[in-house]
Amino acid sequence: MEENPPCCQPHVVIGLDVGTTYSGAYIIEAINCLTHERHEILDFDSIHKFQSLVAVSLDNNGPKARFLGPFEKPHDDEEIQRFFKFDLFYEFNRSAENTGLVTWVRENDGHEAKKVGTHNAFKTFLEGLFILAFEKCKDKGVPITTAITYPRKLSRSSFSIIQHIVSKSTIPNQCSKVIYGSEAEAALAGAFHLLETRGPIQVYYLSSLY
Ligand SMILES: [Zn+2]
Repeated sequence: MEENPPCCQPHVVIGLDVGTTYSGAYIIEAINCLTHERHEILDFDSIHKFQSLVAVSLDNNGPKARFLGPFEKPHDDEEIQRFFKFDLFYEFNRSAENTGLVTWVRENDGHEAKKVGTHNAFKTFLEGLFILAFEKCKDKGVPITTAITYPRKLSRSSFSIIQHIVSKSTIPNQCSKVIYGSEAEAALAGAFHLLETRGPIQVYYLSSLY
């Protein structure tokens, strides 16, 4: 068998979708070379949508957040913190997705006594989600690109917050590249897979915004 030239080597794209209420991840191993027009999806895996929550405990240093995976429950001394994504953006520009939903749940689901800062909560959750996805592909021995999705209408300032949090997280140390793509673009890239076409994976080329 012929060796693939470097441009045709397989790589993995991890797509992280952190939502206000639910989050998920997609892992695609593909060859995507424009020079040789090779666009092949070699493997696909996913982490099904689960609730965006962290568990918060209190110790002498104050509140501490812990990632809660899809089937994990809080310990007895922990409390759930939810809507950290909403709070994070709302604190900065008074705009966020699902305002009505969040207001409704707040009014009907009591209040959280133990809370960490919204940056901290978002970072803890994002890192936890990334590690779940990373565990599924780290042994493939191919370069990993992490794609962070954001809502189409996200403001510049909210986008900067996401970039800042990602830069302070473990994610850049664990993969060769971090890229950002709007949910619409990520969905389009996913559709190429679901429809089993062999089109280029567009999200891979979204190295910067606008
Ligand atoms: Zn090539």
